[in-house]
Amino acid sequence: MNDPGVLYVVATPIGNLDDISSRAAAVLGRVALVAAEDTRHTGQLLAHLGLQTRQLALHEHNEAARVDAVLSRLAAGESVALVSDAGTPLISDPGYRLVAAARERGYKVTPIPGACAAIAALSVSGLPTDRFRFEGFLPARAAARRSRLQELQDCPDTLVFYEGVHRVRETLEDLASIFGADRQACVARELTKLHETIYWGRLADAGAALAADPGGNRGEFTIVVAGATDAGASAAAADLAGVMRVLMIELPASQAARLAARITGASRREAYALARHAGPPSET
Ligand code: SAM
Repeated sequence: MNDPGVLYVVATPIGNLDDISSRAAAVLGRVALVAAEDTRHTGQLLAHLGLQTRQLALHEHNEAARVDAVLSRLAAGESVALVSDAGTPLISDPGYRLVAAARERGYKVTPIPGACAAIAALSVSGLPTDRFRFEGFLPARAAARRSRLQELQDCPDTLVFYEGVHRVRETLEDLASIFGADRQACVARELTKLHETIYWGRLADAGAALAADPGGNRGEFTIVVAGATDAGASAAAADLAGVMRVLMIELPASQAARLAARITGASRREAYALARHAGPPSET
């Protein structure tokens, strides 16, 4: 039997084809097979590089079924390159099952590093990079998205989100209402492409900046948000207390807490706790 082959995890460009590394191009030309998320898309990259390497489709819907096919190629001594449509495979992209299975069976798995939208956006965000938290895509449903953001609102690390054009406005609105209007953010659109735009400023102004951008209704977005600071947390707490004070003049505590939670993005429990400590409402 041949020596076992190598599984290369190859990063590809996130827009600008010149970002392919010469090592990535060499590996894509040398392997027996390219396992690609979308063979038509990767076909264009291979054609751009003048390569005709055979491809196998491996995407989120067939990954489990394709793992064995790739493992048997590795067992036969053939090397395989795993690529996704853009950037680094496995980063909000397919490949986890294959890499885990190859590692488990003792095959050599080696990275060919390159573009990744999260790292590219973070590197120009001007926000702290010593600690960051990659969140990828938020849940599509509004209630689940808001509840995830509420869990993250006190996280002190810089946060990185992926978002598509159809939800980016809603996501920016939710971020501003839950994290607070003044939280700093960087919204990177179409990085490395012709119409790259990078907004930097308050979360509250990000939606308007996007609306003012003639290309703002197209493209791919990476949103980087500053982590919570003590000052931010106490401003949010002050907001909640202020809103509760006003609402409790007119409403029973439970209703005031429910509305205050919706207005400020705080939890209903936090708002209700304020009501219990506030005592009877007064108008002065
Ligand atoms: N694996 C990829 C990577 O390494 O960045 C990410 C794949 S994920 C399916 C696609 C998301 O990445 C997009 O919806 C967008 O949020 C982000 N993204 C990809 N290319 C981008 C670009 N050129 N500019 C900004 N964000 C981008």
